[in-house]
This record gives sequence, structure tokens and C-alpha cells, in this order.
Amino acid sequence: MSAPWTKGSIRPVRILSTCGPTILAVCTLFSGVDVGTVKAGYQRSEERCVVRGVLLPGDKEVVIKEFPDPKPGPGQVVVRMKASGICGSELHGRYQPSKEHIAERGMADKIGGHEPAGVVEAVGEGVVNVQPGDRVMVYHIMGCGYCKYCLSGWMINCATTWKSHGWTAHGGHADFLLTDARNCVKMPDKLSFIDGAICACAGGTAYQATKRLGVSGLDTVALFGLGPVGLCGLLIAKGMGARVIGVDVIPERLELASKLGADVVIDGSRMDPVAAIRDLTHGEGASVAIDYSASPAARNQTLDCCRVWGRVAWVGEGNKTTIEPSPQILHKQLTVIGSWVCGLWELRELGEFLADHSISLERIVTHRFPLEQTDEALRLFDSGRTGKVVVVWP
Ligand SMILES: [Zn+2]
Ligand SMILES: [Zn+2]
Repeated sequence: MSAPWTKGSIRPVRILSTCGPTILAVCTLFSGVDVGTVKAGYQRSEERCVVRGVLLPGDKEVVIKEFPDPKPGPGQVVVRMKASGICGSELHGRYQPSKEHIAERGMADKIGGHEPAGVVEAVGEGVVNVQPGDRVMVYHIMGCGYCKYCLSGWMINCATTWKSHGWTAHGGHADFLLTDARNCVKMPDKLSFIDGAICACAGGTAYQATKRLGVSGLDTVALFGLGPVGLCGLLIAKGMGARVIGVDVIPERLELASKLGADVVIDGSRMDPVAAIRDLTHGEGASVAIDYSASPAARNQTLDCCRVWGRVAWVGEGNKTTIEPSPQILHKQLTVIGSWVCGLWELRELGEFLADHSISLERIVTHRFPLEQTDEALRLFDSGRTGKVVVVWP
């Protein structure tokens, strides 16, 4: 028998034969111990008793702790994590807020990470859709399962028992994740684990907005905000055949968008994007505009850069925005939608779309870190000058 930590462990770990109640009591002794200096990846063993998970208690603190090894109950699945994306909303909603804010919302003791992908390790009683060894991405929102939204795969709109991995339930920044079987979406072979992790929030979010606007090769699409979700939107809109104009104010993001295939990029801090987009579209304006930035100025520009009968989506979260509906929307006959993440079925559909069109969302990744360096990963992502940042396992 070998100890759970393969190497670099900072202290001895009891060699255990089962994970029964007595042993869990031993685990409790370990819980709360900062194991941030543990360097090793985690190895499966029958003796496994604790797993590592990352807590984000607020004020940009990152704590790696040990948790009891999750066991699947009826209808549940344990996923061995292979990739866990860091989402912009995790920065704004879990990493940056104060400790008081995080504690008030009951998130202080919940493992972060809401973009999980990995391999099914174990399934509970009654699970029929996946089996051990399956490669899966995990839809991060869990609903009651019975309301009209849950029944149609829109658990994100469940008003009954809304829970989300990485927020109000343990998330993917851990060696293993316990989830509901229905949340596990099998990945096409062509998708990497990182592709799957990105699909789970950023990619799915961009996909729903782009699909609902009916983007095609007939469109010129203006994207405002070229962070990870905007970059997913770029790859997806290109995959649907559109001409894409990307707008941001950060040079590194504009450069990355260019590399990923944007037809034109515009630095909104150096020129008026609305005038530039009109110049690029025979004076008419873009047929589609999507805001991924949440900037009030950019939201206004999505309306103003669109041609008559144009279609607009607002995806970026937060902030207040003042608009003049008559000249900006009504008189231009615009369709304007709000779009929030995606439905469960769309996650599967997105995986198939990416595989069928040979699109790799992993191309937006600029940095990969092992779990023990999640602190560094979040700090770097917080600079706003990276592409996607992901936590990965060997
Ligand atoms: Zn997210
Ligand atoms: Zn529900």
C-alpha cells in the first residue's frame, strides 16, 4: 500500500485500509491544515481518505485544504478532475470580494471552480448515463430536477433549489468532484479536457448568445470585450461562418484575438469603435453586436454600432447602464437580448459543434497551473492581461 500523496508530502499520512467512520475521524484531524506546499499530483488508491480542494474565503486569499474523499450517493457521480477553468465571474464573485461578503453568502467553506472536466471515477446507485472511465464536462448548476426549467435543462433558472459548483456547492478546484449524474455531459473524443472545462461556463455562455442571435456567414459580428468569454465568442462566431470585429482596450487581448482569427481588431481607447465599425461595413453598421465586457460605454456601443434590424446580446455581468431606447433601439428596429450561461442540452450541443467544426477553445488558454499553484493562477488572471487560465492535472 502507498500513502495517498505520491511525493513531496510535508508530513506523514496514515496508511489506511478503508474510509469508514473511524478513519474519517482521522481525516478530520487533517482538515483545516494548509497543504499549499504539497507538490504532488494525487494518485488513486483504495486507501484514499482525503482530497485537496481550494477555498476562496475572500479578500484574494487562496487556501488549499484537505476534504473527506467524496462518495457517490444514489444518482451521483464522482469525477476525477483533469481540468478546471478559472472564470472571470470567479474573480469578481469569489476571489475579489471581502471575507464578510463571501461568508454572508455561505461560500467561505465551498471549494471554488465552476468549469470542471475530468474522468468519471465512481457512480452511485441508479446512474445510467455515464460509467467509470467516461470523459465528461460538468454542467455547473444543479436544480430541483422537477420544475419546468429543470425539466428543459435550464437549471440555471430553477427557483427552487438552485446550487452551483464553485459557488454554493463544492467546485472543480479539487482532485475529485461530487456531482449529479445528469450534470455530466460526455465529451466527444476530439475535445481535450481543457476544451471541456472551458465549455462548462465560458464557452457555453458565448455559445448561447451567438446561437440565439442566429449568427451565420451573412453576418458581420462586433464583439465588445475580448476576455475569455469574448474569445470563445470569437471562435464560435468564426465557426458559424461570420466575419468578426473584436473591440477591447487591452493590447494583449487585441493581439490574442488577432491570432485567434478576428478579421479586424479595434482598440477602443484609441479610436471610436462605432465610427470604425461603420467604416468597415459600407456605412451601415454591424448586423450583430455582443457585449462581453459589462462596460456601460461598450453596451451603448453595441446598440450604436448595429445597422437597422440588427441583433444585439448583452452577456457581461454587472454595472448600471443608461440608454435612450427610442433612438438607440426602437427606431432602429433592433432585437436586444440578455443571455446567461446556457442550458444543459446546449452544453452537449456545443461539444458536438466544436468537434464537428474542428474548433479548439483551448486555443484561448495562455496559462496552465497545477492545483497547488492556484494562488498564482488567480493572481495572474486578476491582472486582466492573460487569456484563459486553467488548473490542470497530469
Ligand atoms: Zn463562469
Ligand atoms: Zn428546478
